[in-house]
Amino acid sequence: MPAYDVAALRRDFPILGRTVHGRPLAYLDNAATSQKPTVVIEALTRYYSEHNANVHRGVHLLSEEATTAYEAARWSVARFLGLADGRGCVFVRGATEGINLVAECWGRVHLKAGDEILLTQMEHHANIVPWQVIAERTGAKVVVAPVTPRGEIDLVAFQGLLSPRTKLVAFAHVSNALGTVNPAAALTRLAKAVGATVLIDGCQAAAHFKVDIPALGCDFYAFSGHKTFGPTGIGVLWGRPELLDALPPYQFGGDMIRKVDFAGTTFREAPERFEAGTPDIAGVLGLAVALEYFMPRQPVAHAHEQALLAAATARLRAIPGLTIVGEAPEKVAVLSFNIAGGHSHDIGTLLDADGIAIRTGHHCCMPLMKHLGIPGTARASFAFYNTMEEVERLGASLEKIRRMMA
Ligand code: PLP
Repeated sequence: MPAYDVAALRRDFPILGRTVHGRPLAYLDNAATSQKPTVVIEALTRYYSEHNANVHRGVHLLSEEATTAYEAARWSVARFLGLADGRGCVFVRGATEGINLVAECWGRVHLKAGDEILLTQMEHHANIVPWQVIAERTGAKVVVAPVTPRGEIDLVAFQGLLSPRTKLVAFAHVSNALGTVNPAAALTRLAKAVGATVLIDGCQAAAHFKVDIPALGCDFYAFSGHKTFGPTGIGVLWGRPELLDALPPYQFGGDMIRKVDFAGTTFREAPERFEAGTPDIAGVLGLAVALEYFMPRQPVAHAHEQALLAAATARLRAIPGLTIVGEAPEKVAVLSFNIAGGHSHDIGTLLDADGIAIRTGHHCCMPLMKHLGIPGTARASFAFYNTMEEVERLGASLEKIRRMMA
């Protein structure tokens, strides 16, 4: 196999072979959700056709097989995150549930009136609204670090907003709207210097480069399986085990208890403490297969995506009237833009007619769009299976659209 055989890689993803409006699909909406390789699709089918049983409950062979695979999946997640064990890896529905879990369980115990929660202007709604709600309930205050015109967190302002009042700092590892890679380890160090707890929203990082939680030094890290070549409905919240063990659970039922008595109930430690009821077993197994598939390909994937980003940026910059939104020096392969005289939804609809799938609008980042003074953007987001030919198709189609809009 050549150094990077993208044609061979694409054959692993059956959906990439389909057509849209009579054109080969160019799927450039990977930041919304990624496509799934055959091994993941087959893992879901195999679980239901060969091993389907509940986990942690049965003494029969099928249940033992399902339990073994479920717990092995936790180890895959741990390896994926650079961890020595899976103790802190809680299976949740996705990043949204992971962040809500921390806001609810950690926030309820640790926040009080006068405390501050520091967020950034570039956060996804999933990393804003849970904090707003817990702030309202506890009397804490949400404080927001601004973003520079290039789309980076203003580090001087960020540092200036940190104080002994800052109890929690939550920020995106990578911006979904702009592609900016934030200096997560440095931001964490600054937050830790004032004694704050740190949550990183890793939704847009996990599919692009190696996530190394010990090197980041954070307390919580959340990501979604469906953006990382795995199934929808499954994701991971990692938390420091000793921190998780000290938190009250937020859902109650089977599997998360140690002993139930009408006189009182005791709970298990993490991660089971936060996994009440029958989990998404097939989703967990599918996620593990996705991560195992992706891990060996990660280093070359990153280099390929960076080449796609550089080519797409140059191609789009050359189109008159097109403005790129977000030009931080370190980005993943996400390209947000607008065309003078056109609405992003129209750009998306016209690209779709050419078989090119992108995302348009505010990208669940309304405060960021307001800050940038725009209603939204058109966003092309690449994965390791995209090609230079697709970059060229995007450029050619946008040139045509620009002429129409002019
Ligand atoms: N955080 C970021 C940065 C995202 O891009 C997204 C999804 O787009 C989320 C959180 C929420 O992820 P999910 O909807 O999978 O829970």
